[in-house]
Amino acid sequence: MSSGIRFDGVSVAYGGTTVLDRLDLTVEPGEVMALLGPSGSGKTTALRAVAGFVTPSSGRVYIGGRDVTGLPPYKRGIGMVVQQYALFPHLRVDANVAFGLKARKEPRTPKTEIPARVAEALEMTGMTAYARRYPRELSGGQQQRVAIARALAIRPDVLLLDEPLSALDAQLRSGMLAELARLHRELPDVSILYVTHDQVEALTLADRIAVMDKARLQDCGTPQDLYRRPRTEFTASFVGNANLLPVKVDTHGVTLGDTALALPTTGVAPGSAATLCVRPHLVGLGEGPNALRGRVTEVQWRGSTHRLYVDVDGHRVKADVRELRETPPLGTRVTLHFAPEDAVLLAAGVNGE
Ligand code: ADP
Repeated sequence: MSSGIRFDGVSVAYGGTTVLDRLDLTVEPGEVMALLGPSGSGKTTALRAVAGFVTPSSGRVYIGGRDVTGLPPYKRGIGMVVQQYALFPHLRVDANVAFGLKARKEPRTPKTEIPARVAEALEMTGMTAYARRYPRELSGGQQQRVAIARALAIRPDVLLLDEPLSALDAQLRSGMLAELARLHRELPDVSILYVTHDQVEALTLADRIAVMDKARLQDCGTPQDLYRRPRTEFTASFVGNANLLPVKVDTHGVTLGDTALALPTTGVAPGSAATLCVRPHLVGLGEGPNALRGRVTEVQWRGSTHRLYVDVDGHRVKADVRELRETPPLGTRVTLHFAPEDAVLLAAGVNGE
């Protein structure tokens, strides 16, 4: 059986301050939804509202179509993994994994079934060989696997992951990211809500990303959608790297300073200010459509690319250029260009203002 999650106008306030503002969001059964946003944007609060650790001041939370807003956490059929593992130090790995099963009253797992369920969860997380160890005898990555095994042992419909990789170093993190992707393939019916401030984690794992800022949902879509067609400046700058340039839109077209650009203006009324969003790797060096002329102010070598910073009429434009034979000296006049289809025009005032 698989269950989705639905937030229906969920708000949470602490001492009169709204930290989650009317969240409407649906996680489809079997979907991985990342909640992505800066620290303090309300992500963990949203997750805790699903778990049952915070009570919404308004709105309802549904799991598998059932209104769980008033239910205690242990009746919600969820598994949860947090950043700090939260293993019991005095219990061996197998006892830690069994703990959730024993604590759960509904549905109760028959005692005779517990060892098999623990073995299954340890197997799934590659921790079978460590069953008799204590948490202190494990690395951070291994401890996090045990925490995941413990969450999986109850065979949850819904898995809540709160920054599960942020305590790990970069190399372990990318290994665990691949592990989580594999686990999801093995458990395709489990819906996952994944809180992170790391766009790489969100882009890698999620079917869809919900972008949060200032207690609000700013944007939601597939990673490709958000990257190629962000709806807000916030999304454009938080998901991937972006040039965000102030442009004017009138009946003749779009201008950046004195430079006329050939761009579709759909969705932006003539006479209004807008922001042009174009990804640095889609800006080319040399003549082409939408030519921008300026001077190089900085060059950074990044291994496979050079990042050029070019001053165009007082605007700083970033271009990630591959196979640059010679590094242009600072102050060199250059021309940059980008294809119309690689740019997005964002109307002013769509950024939660
Ligand atoms: P995120 O997960 O995006 O970092 P949180 O949901 O943890 O954000 O927090 C959102 C806001 O709510 C923050 O400003 C935080 O300080 C505040 N907050 C979180 N938990 C509590 C609490 N128990 N009491 C008071 N304020 C809280």
